[in-house]
Amino acid sequence: MSYLSVAKFGGTSVANYPAMQSCANIVIADPNTRVVVLSASAGITNLLVALANGCEEAERNKLLNEVRQIQENILTELKDDCRVRPKIEALLANITSLAEAANLATSLALTDELISHGEMMSSLIFVEVLRELQIEATWLDVRTIVATNSHFGKATPNDEQTRQNCNNLLKPLIERGELVITQGFIGRDEQGKTTTLGRGGSDYSAALLAEVLNAQDVLIWTDVAGIYTTDPRIVSNAQRIDTMSFSEAAEMATFGAKVLHPATLLPAVRSNIPVYVGSSKAPQDGGTWVTRNPQPRPTFRAIALRRDQTLLTLSSLNMLYAQGFLANIFTILAKHKISVDTITTSEVSVALTLDKMGSASSGTGLLSQELIDELSQFCTVKVDTGLSLVALIGNELHTASGVAKRIFETLDAYNIRMISYGASTNNICLLADSDKADDIVRLLHKALFE
Ligand code: ASP
Ligand code: MG
Repeated sequence: MSYLSVAKFGGTSVANYPAMQSCANIVIADPNTRVVVLSASAGITNLLVALANGCEEAERNKLLNEVRQIQENILTELKDDCRVRPKIEALLANITSLAEAANLATSLALTDELISHGEMMSSLIFVEVLRELQIEATWLDVRTIVATNSHFGKATPNDEQTRQNCNNLLKPLIERGELVITQGFIGRDEQGKTTTLGRGGSDYSAALLAEVLNAQDVLIWTDVAGIYTTDPRIVSNAQRIDTMSFSEAAEMATFGAKVLHPATLLPAVRSNIPVYVGSSKAPQDGGTWVTRNPQPRPTFRAIALRRDQTLLTLSSLNMLYAQGFLANIFTILAKHKISVDTITTSEVSVALTLDKMGSASSGTGLLSQELIDELSQFCTVKVDTGLSLVALIGNELHTASGVAKRIFETLDAYNIRMISYGASTNNICLLADSDKADDIVRLLHKALFE
């Protein structure tokens, strides 16, 4: 097969008619893009999740109307909606009955079935937007390709089965020269039930399809023109990074840069597929290429900020020369499904940061009283909140000389609560009070990047 790109357009890129037109123009301008993966129009998935949680009639009708309105705004802009309108009406009718069912008894399987409708609608409408620009595309139900396990809400793809389906159903279409429009985020389990790959999972779908198709690259079209040295909302001088490595991008994604979903990189990394991030609204502005071995590899690449951190300090004099203290702590944390982010230890205490993101603990707070009680049985427990984690991302940070000096000189006036340095060659994490975090990012950016 000749050069093949898989393009993915996110929710904001397909939020309304003009946005969809920009996407269509990007696809038309690039003959290598033969597979297009779409998210649901912005806002739709959140509304569908709310419906899937079950709500009373009045609230349900309000949400259903909002879903309808978002799609209706696009349909009315089409010159001719007679082909697609009946399909959208049928999906809206499905959504209504699934939402009614969810109000009686909700389930994870029902939720996935319901929320998959968002991607179904956006992809059907996009085919019509292309048709108005004289491009005939083939709509494909991605569930016939992406095979997953039955872990509803966060299903794991079965790579082998997915590859087989792709060879049987998707490759022949591409070889015939067709342009294929399909959905991100969703798949199907062995029983034929709809599954989803987790919120933001469309990026992952695109990377996975690129992998099984042996595509040359994945193009992630979103609402920002690439990955920046830091959040441009905090530092207006932030600069776009032209090329960065998979490992740097993975650190950025995990430490809060929302541009790429961390899972996206799995298939890309293992199959060495370059990933491009660009803006569908301003494709001419360029973007960022994420590849295995880009040059140069600067010591300092970017600064990411993650808010809402909890610091847990556990101390015990019994820790002196003791064995199994950390094992005990981690067993208790694991039992409570708490995922630990960064950690430092001294002879008699250990400090950990916890993040809301990776923890499956539901309900009120991240730390339950039960957990604190359990830990308190063999150490003193101190909990601090209102903290943010500033992650400095770069290369060979552990061996470059003068790194710590530059950081601490710059942050002389600030109280840094915890530092994690040395575990990764790609990052240094600093924990500070949340109300100082933006200033710290600005100062570090100025000192290291400007
Ligand atoms: N529509 C899904 C979500 O909002 C998947 C995605 O956008 O990637 O999470
Ligand atoms: Mg999205």
